[in-house]
Amino acid sequence: MILESERRAVVDHAPELAALTPGRTGNLSVRDGDAFAVTPTGVPYDSFDVEDVPVVGVDGEHREGRMAPSSEVPMHAAIYRRADVGAIVHTHSPWATAMAVAREPLPPIHYMIVAVGKRVPVAEYAPYGTDDLAANVVAAMDEADATAALIENHGLVVTGADLETALENTHHVESLARLYLQTRAAGLEPRTLSDAQLEAVLERFESYGQ
Ligand code: 13P
Ligand code: ZN
Repeated sequence: MILESERRAVVDHAPELAALTPGRTGNLSVRDGDAFAVTPTGVPYDSFDVEDVPVVGVDGEHREGRMAPSSEVPMHAAIYRRADVGAIVHTHSPWATAMAVAREPLPPIHYMIVAVGKRVPVAEYAPYGTDDLAANVVAAMDEADATAALIENHGLVVTGADLETALENTHHVESLARLYLQTRAAGLEPRTLSDAQLEAVLERFESYGQ
């Protein structure tokens, strides 16, 4: 079986999408070289096993797996072709999606933003699952030098070195979007960190942790 450990990671972590995105929305993938394992389209996230998990090339071709792959394969494939990342998480998580509905980028209101860049840009709307949407997401991430993007009137996409990191950073972006909107809902003005302050955080992050 090809990409067995990546498919296992999809089966093990897909149920975590339930806490982030409504119903069967959202998807995630894990890459190995020129192919990736991705959630099947339109099924509950606890309803498939390793043999079901589709494996798709970065060219978008379905290579193995009993189920049909996520409709967002063009977006996952385009991101893997562009960036050296190991995993991608896409959600319609409510706070980030509220920002995406307002078409407002997430500014650096908290130091944890550096987990995904100095801001989270907004990718221009295109129908879900299209090459146009894939191109818009890649363009927004490139332009902002970010590993996450909001998608106009749709949701959020976050990349990471591995699936645990991509999921953790999805939670970070969701919680920062909530902070931003709650600050504004309280009638207060969210203040942003300067570029120099963000650079200092990035430096400290190099030696953070055990
Ligand atoms: P899939 O079930 O095809 O992954 O689609 C969910 C989604 O969020 C589309 O944008
Ligand atoms: Zn979606």
